Amino acid sequence: MIIQRVVLNSRPGKNGNPVVENFRVEEFSLPDALNEGQVQVRTLYLSVDPYMRCKMNEDTGTDYLAPWQLAQVADGGGIGIVEESKHQKLAKGDFVTSFYWPWQTKAILDGNGLEKVDPQLVDGHLSYFLGAIGMPGLTSLIGVQEKGHISAGSNQTMVVSGAAGACGSLAGQIGHLLGCSRVVGICGTQEKCLFLTSELGFDAAVNYKTGNVAEQLREACPGGVDVYFDNVGGDISNTVISQMNENSHIILCGQISQYNKDVPYPPPLPPAVEAIRKERNITRERFTVLNYKDKFEPGILQLSQWFKEGKLKIKETVAKGLENMGVAFQSMMTGGNVGKQIVCISEDSSL
Ligand code: NAP
Repeated sequence: MIIQRVVLNSRPGKNGNPVVENFRVEEFSLPDALNEGQVQVRTLYLSVDPYMRCKMNEDTGTDYLAPWQLAQVADGGGIGIVEESKHQKLAKGDFVTSFYWPWQTKAILDGNGLEKVDPQLVDGHLSYFLGAIGMPGLTSLIGVQEKGHISAGSNQTMVVSGAAGACGSLAGQIGHLLGCSRVVGICGTQEKCLFLTSELGFDAAVNYKTGNVAEQLREACPGGVDVYFDNVGGDISNTVISQMNENSHIILCGQISQYNKDVPYPPPLPPAVEAIRKERNITRERFTVLNYKDKFEPGILQLSQWFKEGKLKIKETVAKGLENMGVAFQSMMTGGNVGKQIVCISEDSSL
C-alpha cells in the first residue's frame, strides 16, 4: 500500500530558524503483512512541539531526545485508529497513542509501544490526548504541583510566559485551580491577551511585543511575583525574575526564545539576574515531565475531570493535512498558535 510520510529534508543549523523546507513529503510503500505483535494504524492527529527543534539538530543536547536523521521519517506525539491487529491486547477500532508516532498517513507499529486511550476521557475530542489531556497537560499540572509550591489561601501571584500556548494556557488555569489568587499571562499578541483574560480567567495579560514589559508587569503584579511558570526564558524571564519576591519559585518548563541558538539547556541566567535569584532565594530547578511517569495516570484523570466539570478550558489551533506538518511546526515556533497546535491527518475516526 502506498502511503505519505514526512522526512527531515535539511537541518536549520543550531543557530538557524526552522523553515518549511526543512521537511519533505514523500510516498512510501507500507508492507502488506503484519508480523506477530504489530498493528496497522491510520493516523488521525499529529502534534508539533517545541522540543522537536532540538531533534532537528545533529546533536539534540539532551540524553532523552534522539535526533531526527536526514531523509528519515520524523516522529512525535500522535494518535490513530487500529485498522488491523496481530497484537493480543489491541483490536480493530481501538484508539492508540504514542510519543514516537511516525509522521505518516498510515503505519505499521509495534503494539507494545502504543497506549490504548479511552475517548470518554476527552468527550470524543481525540486530539486532546496530544494536548490538554496528554503530554502538555501533564507538563503543566505536574510542573505546577512539583515546582510551584502553591499553597491555597496564601495570596500568591503567578506569572506565566508563553501563556496562550499549549502548556501556558493550562498552567495559568491550574494555578487558579490550585489556589493562586492572581494569575498573569505574558504572550505575543493583543488577541492572545484578550483570550487569556476573557476566556481563561487570567486576571491580567501583558503583550511582550508592545510597550515596556517591566512596567506592564509591575502594574499587573502589585504584590510582586511568587510563582513563575517559565516557557520562554531570555529577556522576558529576566524581567519577571527581577520582580519576584523572596523565597519564590520558578517552574522551569521551557526556554523557547533560546531554541534557535547554540546555548546549553537550561541556559544560565545573566550574572545580574542570577545574583537577584540567589539573594532572594528563588528556586529554579530543571523540570522534565518525562521524569514523572508514575504521575501520568492520576494526572490524566485529574485533567479529564477538570475538563468535564468545565473548570479547564481547552483551546486548539488545528492545521489540516500531512503536507502541512512543516508549516504547522514553523507557525507554532513563531507564535501562530493559540492553545495547542495540532495537525489533523484524517478526519474520519471510524473504521
Ligand atoms: P506553545 O506555547 O503552544 O507554542 C510556542 C509558543 O512560544 C508560541 O506560540 C509563541 O507564542 C511562543 N514563542 C515563540 N518564540 C518566542 C520568543 N522568542 N519569546 C517568547 N515567546 C515565544 O508550545 P508548548 O508546547 O506549550 O511549549 C511551551 C514550552 O514548554 C516550550 O518551551 C517547551 O519546550 C516547554 N515544554 C517543556 C516540557 C517539560 O517537560 N519541561 C514539556 C512540554 C513543553 P507568543 O505569541 O506568545 O510569542
